[in-house]
Amino acid sequence: MQTVKLHDKTFDIFINEQQIQESISKIAQQINIDYKDKNPLFLGVLNGSFLFAADLFRQIEGTAEISFIKLASYHGTSTTGKINQLIGLNEDIDGRHVIIIEDIVDTGITLQKIMNDLQQKKPASIAVATLLFKPESYQKSYPVQYIAMKVANDFLVGYGLDYNGQGRNLKAIYKIKE
Ligand code: 5GP
Ligand code: MG
Repeated sequence: MQTVKLHDKTFDIFINEQQIQESISKIAQQINIDYKDKNPLFLGVLNGSFLFAADLFRQIEGTAEISFIKLASYHGTSTTGKINQLIGLNEDIDGRHVIIIEDIVDTGITLQKIMNDLQQKKPASIAVATLLFKPESYQKSYPVQYIAMKVANDFLVGYGLDYNGQGRNLKAIYKIKE
């Protein structure tokens, strides 16, 4: 499919299946080297990362574990405003080597929130593996260690990424048509 329509918007093919899988293989190889014998705990951030997490984890060799977390947003008091709470973490990460799996790091605000929460639980280390990274948009100084693909500031869908709930099942990644 060269073009898809989701809700009111049209999207053009941008990154095909083969390019996605090749870029994932590269970071998986690097993670296999860096985490050999460390029994890393992967934490996939739902919903967007589920396909990437599956394809990445499939290529991890040796002993490794995976679990999933989610940022649930709710309204706090009028003084606290909107609160994002990390939910779903049942594992004790004290002393563990954690690798966060993200679909896309844009400004880095979401990632920072997750990092802050996890760091309080005393892991041995935390690294980030992201399918997509928008360098022009990133505002944080925290290093993103494993980047499958760097992209410009365009709105993308497919391979887990959605536009108002739709498009996650697309096998390729599509870019919004201006
Ligand atoms: P950040 O907090 O880094 O600015 O944004 C991270 C979140 O914004 C992602 O997890 C994703 O939900 C959303 N996001 C950022 N860029 C895109 C994009 O190009 N497409 C889609 N579908 N979501 C995006
Ligand atoms: Mg995300």
